[in-house]
Amino acid sequence: MRLRWPTGVRCARCGSARVYKRRQPWRWQCKHCHKQGYRFSPLVGTVFEHTHYPLPLWFKVIYLLCQSKKGMSALQIQRMLGIGSYRTAWSLCHRIRAALPPAAQALLRGLVEVEETYVGGKEGKKPKAKRRRVSGTAGKLPVLGALSRRGAVVTQVVETPDTRALQGFVTARVSRQAELVATDEHAGYRYLRAAGYRHETVRHGRGEYVRGRVHTQSIESFWALLKRGLLGTFHHVSRRYLPLYLREFTFRHNHRPDPHWFECLLVSSLGG
Ligand SMILES: [Zn+2]
Repeated sequence: MRLRWPTGVRCARCGSARVYKRRQPWRWQCKHCHKQGYRFSPLVGTVFEHTHYPLPLWFKVIYLLCQSKKGMSALQIQRMLGIGSYRTAWSLCHRIRAALPPAAQALLRGLVEVEETYVGGKEGKKPKAKRRRVSGTAGKLPVLGALSRRGAVVTQVVETPDTRALQGFVTARVSRQAELVATDEHAGYRYLRAAGYRHETVRHGRGEYVRGRVHTQSIESFWALLKRGLLGTFHHVSRRYLPLYLREFTFRHNHRPDPHWFECLLVSSLGG
């Protein structure tokens, strides 16, 4: 109530403040819309609308999902909270992921690392003996990431990590005022200098991983966490759901030092 209407209850349909409380708990009626018999609860228009589950259960799932470093599987959440079916736990988790606020639109500044990676497609479902034979990037999904050290991370799933995709991603997410844009020697980054970035590369091919402050170790740690989480917790990630998992992992990363992450998530889940 406080987060949704900090200055008092307003009609969820027309925004009027001329509303009155009904006798039923959590029900208001609008003086403007009353001819249509419009009544509303604070949950109307939020991800919690039409839910059969009490809000405290939602909040517990949100807590478990967002406070564990690598994420938590629907199965584990189902067991810990004693939720009736796996399907229910799974759908609660997915609705929460979809309600997470996307990473801020502000361009990354400071010392920025950019790296492309491949996320394991359906590999996790195969029997262990077969997994290692999957070579290179077959069946995997390319993801681009940019991370500002001591700042935010942003990610994006792409069709092919070619020059166009990499250049487009950097220009859309990284400020030209960034002190440094560090990448590996992937040819797709070769026009960044021409585009006005202070771009430096580390030559992984030649065994070079750190050159002063030029390295990509922070974004590599982020990818490692993501991959361990996806493999250990979710087993199977399809192209359809990968953006949701990325959103979960970036939300956790970007809100690590934020004591108000829960309110931030709730405000975002209100759909405004
Ligand atoms: Zn109204």
